Amino acid sequence: MDSMEKIVSLCKRRGFIFPSSEIYGGLNGCWDYGPLGVELKRNVKQAWWDDMVAHHDETASPAGAPATFSMVGLDSSLLMNPKVWEASGHVGGFSDPMVDDRETRARYRADQLAVFALEFVATDGTVESYDEVLFAAPGEIGKTDPAELFEPHRKRIASLQKARQGRNARPVGIPDALQNDAVRMKVIAPGATGPGTLTAPRAFNLMFKTHVGALEDNSSVTYLRPETAQGIFVNFKNVCDTARVRVPFGIGQIGKAFRNEINPRNFTFRSREFEQMEIEFFCRANNSAQWYEYWRDRRYRWYIALGIRPGNLHLREHDKDELAHYAAGCADVEYDFPFGRSELEGIANRTDFDLRQHMQMSGKDLRYFDDQETNEDARRYLPHVIEPSAGADRGTLAFLCDAYSEDEVGGEPRTVLKLHPRLAPIKAAVFPLVKKDGMPEKALAIYRSLKKRFNVYYDEKGAIGRRYRRQDEAGTPFCITVDGDTLTADTVTVRERDTCEQTRISVAELGDVLGERLGG
Ligand code: ATP
Repeated sequence: MDSMEKIVSLCKRRGFIFPSSEIYGGLNGCWDYGPLGVELKRNVKQAWWDDMVAHHDETASPAGAPATFSMVGLDSSLLMNPKVWEASGHVGGFSDPMVDDRETRARYRADQLAVFALEFVATDGTVESYDEVLFAAPGEIGKTDPAELFEPHRKRIASLQKARQGRNARPVGIPDALQNDAVRMKVIAPGATGPGTLTAPRAFNLMFKTHVGALEDNSSVTYLRPETAQGIFVNFKNVCDTARVRVPFGIGQIGKAFRNEINPRNFTFRSREFEQMEIEFFCRANNSAQWYEYWRDRRYRWYIALGIRPGNLHLREHDKDELAHYAAGCADVEYDFPFGRSELEGIANRTDFDLRQHMQMSGKDLRYFDDQETNEDARRYLPHVIEPSAGADRGTLAFLCDAYSEDEVGGEPRTVLKLHPRLAPIKAAVFPLVKKDGMPEKALAIYRSLKKRFNVYYDEKGAIGRRYRRQDEAGTPFCITVDGDTLTADTVTVRERDTCEQTRISVAELGDVLGERLGG
């Protein structure tokens, strides 16, 4: 099993994540969070809300920033007036180019389908090129393991190799092959019996359409929101008018978003229903570059502070030619998932594009009014926007992947989730060493008192070693065991998950010690 398979299997086995509506065969791109998963994902969202909105730290603000700035929250509706999506550009342009296979009826995102010819290399280094037919497989040339690219065409490639005395085959990428009709006709799609079954790439709108009200006609069409951000922009004026915020300030929102992804894959990484955690930070145009850097770096540090190993996390600044036409800067926070380096979050300087679009479309004046500005011309203006846009599910998956480890304790292998204590679904487990001598009663009393402050778990079944292992797999940072000494000296052992070290602590101090070790 590769490490991703192990993580998926642990998630299923321990109740972190299940396929949606599994008893009916599931629904592609949709996932359910089980008892441990819901706690983990809630903790991720809570940490984001606490650190970015409720208790945000403003001490590292850029030079010249005011001593304090507001971060407020919002919870906007999922269904909105369809004009929102016209103004945002989603109705016209929110689409991925996709290709269909007429034979297998599979659908692929054109930019995620590698097309390659073959080269056969002899032991003396001579190379024979073969491009009579071309092969298509999900992946990227240079990034995806050639064996994986060859997999859908194993038999055909093996027979070509056999005819060449077993020479090594390697893929040679053919860029833009699907755009060119003549080249595309030579391409064999995965699972197809011959070449020429793929259609030319076509735009495919990612928004889920639905109808509001009893009539199912064009006048009732709206969409499930594909991002939470637009809910913030359309409430910009409401927030300015009611919350006494002054530029610079930010609005944060956590909520569901829906995209009819062509190829949901890599577990929860690319889902059709997912949650986003987005901030729109409104500032003046003249210092938007500093605020962009501020948010980019702050968001990167947030993942590290919650335990992601710095070696696995990367900040990738987009090249100028990658930027949307309105954007003044964009960076991705990327994580080294077992399936490759991929985007966790994007941070963009969107200038005043969104507010300007909504001002035009709605006909409402969305300019900010600065009553303390003495220069009459500068009193009303459209602020510029920095948008850190994170995925709660992708974040949760990255925390899971980074925490997953296997080691040996007392000569026995164990699987452990080394989750940051703030994220751990269960903070501590309480065990009686044995089910007699008054130990369960004492352990239950401790459990009940801790439960008032922490999410704790009580378990009296099975050998103590197995109970520890179960909690290690769930990522529980501490196990508290009631033993013979508890009954005489009123102390318990506290076992730390990562080191397995045990210390004795008096029952009276337990709550405070735990609070301190869990980080408040
Ligand atoms: P990608 O290029 O991977 O499709 P994107 O650039 O379209 O992502 P954004 O529109 O910037 O993504 O969305 C912001 C964040 O929302 C992403 O960084 C990601 O964390 C999350 N997100 C977007 N699409 C999905 C999805 N299909 N499944 C899970 N999370 C998603």
